[in-house]
Amino acid sequence: MQVLCLDMEGVLVPEIWIEFAKRTGIAEFSRTTRDEPDYDKLMRYRIALLDQHKLRLNDIQQVIDGMGPLAGAREFLDDMRTRFQVIILSDTFYEFADPLMRQLGRPTLFCHRLLVDEAGRVRDYKLRQPDQKRAAVNALKSLNYRVIAAGDSYNDTGMLLAADAGFFIHAPPAIAAQFPQFAVTNSYGELKAAVEGAAAAWAQ
Ligand SMILES: [Mg+2]
Repeated sequence: MQVLCLDMEGVLVPEIWIEFAKRTGIAEFSRTTRDEPDYDKLMRYRIALLDQHKLRLNDIQQVIDGMGPLAGAREFLDDMRTRFQVIILSDTFYEFADPLMRQLGRPTLFCHRLLVDEAGRVRDYKLRQPDQKRAAVNALKSLNYRVIAAGDSYNDTGMLLAADAGFFIHAPPAIAAQFPQFAVTNSYGELKAAVEGAAAAWAQ
Protein backbone atom coordinates (compact mmCIF):
# COMPACT_ATOMS: atom_id res chain seq x y z
CA MET A 1 0.00 0.00 0.00
CA GLN A 2 1.65 3.15 -1.18
CA VAL A 3 0.87 6.83 -0.88
CA LEU A 4 2.51 9.47 -3.03
CA CYS A 5 2.92 12.83 -1.27
CA LEU A 6 3.63 15.81 -3.51
CA ASP A 7 4.47 19.39 -2.71
CA MET A 8 2.32 21.85 -4.63
CA GLU A 9 4.11 25.16 -5.31
CA GLY A 10 7.10 24.78 -7.60
CA VAL A 11 6.06 21.17 -8.29
CA LEU A 12 2.53 21.33 -9.74
CA VAL A 13 1.76 25.06 -9.79
CA PRO A 14 3.89 28.23 -9.85
CA GLU A 15 5.05 29.87 -6.60
CA ILE A 16 1.77 31.58 -5.70
CA TRP A 17 3.09 34.80 -4.12
CA ILE A 18 5.67 35.38 -6.87
CA GLU A 19 3.11 34.81 -9.60
CA PHE A 20 0.63 36.95 -7.65
CA ALA A 21 3.19 39.80 -7.59
CA LYS A 22 3.59 39.54 -11.38
CA ARG A 23 -0.11 39.45 -12.08
CA THR A 24 -1.05 42.31 -9.75
CA GLY A 25 2.04 44.36 -10.67
CA ILE A 26 2.69 44.80 -6.93
CA ALA A 27 6.35 43.80 -6.65
CA GLU A 28 6.34 43.76 -2.82
CA PHE A 29 4.35 40.51 -2.91
CA SER A 30 7.37 38.69 -4.33
CA ARG A 31 9.13 38.85 -0.95
CA THR A 32 9.69 35.24 0.18
CA THR A 33 11.28 33.33 3.06
CA ARG A 34 14.62 33.85 1.33
CA ASP A 35 14.27 37.60 1.94
CA GLU A 36 12.51 37.32 5.31
CA PRO A 37 13.30 34.04 7.10
CA ASP A 38 10.83 34.80 9.92
CA TYR A 39 7.66 33.27 8.42
CA ASP A 40 5.30 34.98 10.85
CA LYS A 41 6.82 38.38 10.07
CA LEU A 42 6.54 37.64 6.35
CA MET A 43 2.86 36.67 6.61
CA ARG A 44 2.03 39.78 8.67
CA TYR A 45 3.76 41.86 5.96
CA ARG A 46 1.74 40.14 3.21
CA ILE A 47 -1.57 40.54 5.07
CA ALA A 48 -0.83 44.24 5.66
CA LEU A 49 0.03 44.62 1.97
CA LEU A 50 -3.24 42.96 0.90
CA ASP A 51 -5.08 45.38 3.17
CA GLN A 52 -3.16 48.39 1.88
CA HIS A 53 -4.11 47.51 -1.71
CA LYS A 54 -7.68 46.72 -0.64
CA LEU A 55 -7.41 43.21 -2.01
CA ARG A 56 -10.13 40.99 -0.59
CA LEU A 57 -10.23 37.24 -0.74
CA ASN A 58 -12.45 37.33 -3.85
CA ASP A 59 -10.00 39.56 -5.72
CA ILE A 60 -7.10 37.37 -4.68
CA GLN A 61 -8.89 34.20 -5.77
CA GLN A 62 -9.67 35.76 -9.16
CA VAL A 63 -5.99 36.50 -9.70
CA ILE A 64 -5.00 32.99 -8.62
CA ASP A 65 -7.71 31.53 -10.84
CA GLY A 66 -5.90 33.06 -13.81
CA MET A 67 -2.64 31.30 -13.00
CA GLY A 68 -3.17 27.66 -13.85
CA PRO A 69 -0.97 24.65 -13.10
CA LEU A 70 2.49 24.18 -14.63
CA ALA A 71 2.51 22.66 -18.12
CA GLY A 72 1.92 18.91 -17.91
CA ALA A 73 1.07 18.96 -14.19
CA ARG A 74 -2.56 17.90 -14.57
CA GLU A 75 -1.64 15.00 -16.87
CA PHE A 76 1.13 13.87 -14.52
CA LEU A 77 -1.16 14.02 -11.51
CA ASP A 78 -4.02 12.20 -13.27
CA ASP A 79 -1.59 9.48 -14.33
CA MET A 80 -0.15 9.08 -10.81
CA ARG A 81 -3.66 8.95 -9.33
CA THR A 82 -4.50 5.88 -11.42
CA ARG A 83 -1.78 3.95 -9.54
CA PHE A 84 -1.28 5.64 -6.17
CA GLN A 85 -3.25 7.37 -3.48
CA VAL A 86 -1.93 10.92 -3.92
CA ILE A 87 -1.91 13.59 -1.22
CA ILE A 88 -0.70 17.14 -1.83
CA LEU A 89 1.20 18.43 1.21
CA SER A 90 1.56 22.19 0.93
CA ASP A 91 2.36 25.15 3.15
CA THR A 92 -0.15 27.30 1.29
CA PHE A 93 -3.71 28.07 2.42
CA TYR A 94 -6.94 26.36 1.36
CA GLU A 95 -8.42 29.72 0.35
CA PHE A 96 -5.53 30.45 -2.05
CA ALA A 97 -5.15 26.93 -3.36
CA ASP A 98 -8.80 26.42 -4.22
CA PRO A 99 -8.78 27.88 -7.77
CA LEU A 100 -5.68 25.82 -8.61
CA MET A 101 -7.03 22.64 -7.02
CA ARG A 102 -10.10 22.94 -9.22
CA GLN A 103 -7.84 23.02 -12.29
CA LEU A 104 -5.96 19.97 -10.98
CA GLY A 105 -9.13 17.88 -10.57
CA ARG A 106 -9.37 18.44 -6.82
CA PRO A 107 -6.77 16.07 -5.42
CA THR A 108 -6.58 15.68 -1.63
CA LEU A 109 -4.79 18.67 -0.13
CA PHE A 110 -3.39 19.10 3.37
CA CYS A 111 -2.39 22.73 4.05
CA HIS A 112 -3.23 25.70 6.30
CA ARG A 113 -6.05 28.23 6.65
CA LEU A 114 -6.55 31.95 6.32
CA LEU A 115 -8.84 33.80 8.68
CA VAL A 116 -11.11 36.09 6.70
CA ASP A 117 -13.60 38.61 8.13
CA GLU A 118 -17.23 39.15 7.05
CA ALA A 119 -16.13 41.74 4.50
CA GLY A 120 -13.78 39.22 2.86
CA ARG A 121 -10.57 40.79 4.11
CA VAL A 122 -7.72 38.52 5.14
CA ARG A 123 -7.10 39.16 8.83
CA ASP A 124 -4.82 36.37 9.97
CA TYR A 125 -3.59 32.90 9.14
CA LYS A 126 -3.63 29.64 11.02
CA LEU A 127 -1.01 26.92 10.62
CA ARG A 128 -2.78 23.60 11.07
CA GLN A 129 0.24 22.24 12.92
CA PRO A 130 3.97 22.95 12.91
CA ASP A 131 6.15 20.90 10.53
CA GLN A 132 2.95 19.49 9.04
CA LYS A 133 4.53 17.80 6.00
CA ARG A 134 6.78 15.62 8.11
CA ALA A 135 3.92 14.96 10.57
CA ALA A 136 1.63 13.84 7.73
CA VAL A 137 4.21 11.39 6.35
CA ASN A 138 4.82 9.93 9.81
CA ALA A 139 1.07 9.61 10.38
CA LEU A 140 0.61 7.78 7.05
CA LYS A 141 3.44 5.42 7.94
CA SER A 142 1.73 4.66 11.25
CA LEU A 143 -1.29 3.54 9.15
CA ASN A 144 0.97 1.02 7.39
CA TYR A 145 1.38 2.94 4.15
CA ARG A 146 4.68 3.15 2.40
CA VAL A 147 5.25 6.77 1.48
CA ILE A 148 6.95 8.16 -1.59
CA ALA A 149 7.42 11.94 -1.52
CA ALA A 150 8.57 14.62 -3.93
CA GLY A 151 9.23 18.31 -3.47
CA ASP A 152 11.38 21.20 -4.63
CA SER A 153 12.62 23.14 -1.63
CA TYR A 154 13.75 23.39 2.00
CA ASN A 155 10.24 23.14 3.38
CA ASP A 156 9.99 19.67 1.79
CA THR A 157 13.10 18.14 3.30
CA GLY A 158 11.36 17.07 6.53
CA MET A 159 8.78 15.23 4.41
CA LEU A 160 11.47 13.70 2.16
CA LEU A 161 13.51 12.55 5.17
CA ALA A 162 10.47 10.96 6.83
CA ALA A 163 9.30 9.21 3.62
CA ASP A 164 10.37 5.70 2.58
CA ALA A 165 11.59 7.20 -0.69
CA GLY A 166 12.07 10.89 -1.45
CA PHE A 167 12.85 12.78 -4.64
CA PHE A 168 13.52 16.33 -5.68
CA ILE A 169 11.80 17.80 -8.70
CA HIS A 170 12.59 21.25 -10.13
CA ALA A 171 14.81 21.91 -7.06
CA PRO A 172 17.35 24.73 -7.20
CA PRO A 173 20.78 23.03 -7.54
CA ALA A 174 22.08 24.69 -4.34
CA ILE A 175 19.30 23.08 -2.29
CA ALA A 176 19.63 19.69 -3.98
CA ALA A 177 23.39 19.75 -3.28
CA GLN A 178 22.75 20.06 0.47
CA PHE A 179 20.65 16.88 0.46
CA PRO A 180 22.54 14.45 -1.77
CA GLN A 181 20.55 11.49 -0.39
CA PHE A 182 17.56 12.51 -2.54
CA ALA A 183 17.70 11.80 -6.27
CA VAL A 184 17.11 14.85 -8.43
CA THR A 185 14.51 14.79 -11.19
CA ASN A 186 13.92 17.62 -13.61
CA SER A 187 10.72 16.69 -15.41
CA TYR A 188 7.46 14.86 -14.74
CA GLY A 189 8.74 12.01 -16.91
CA GLU A 190 11.85 11.63 -14.73
CA LEU A 191 9.83 11.84 -11.53
CA LYS A 192 7.36 9.28 -12.80
CA ALA A 193 10.23 6.88 -13.56
CA ALA A 194 11.73 7.44 -10.09
CA VAL A 195 8.39 6.91 -8.30
CA GLU A 196 7.61 3.79 -10.29
CA GLY A 197 11.13 2.48 -9.68
CA ALA A 198 10.67 2.81 -5.90
CA ALA A 199 7.25 1.15 -6.02
CA ALA A 200 8.53 -1.70 -8.20
CA ALA A 201 11.44 -2.39 -5.85
CA TRP A 202 9.00 -2.88 -2.96
CA ALA A 203 6.77 -5.15 -5.02
CA GLN A 204 9.53 -7.73 -5.40
MG1 LIG B 1 7.50 24.05 -3.23
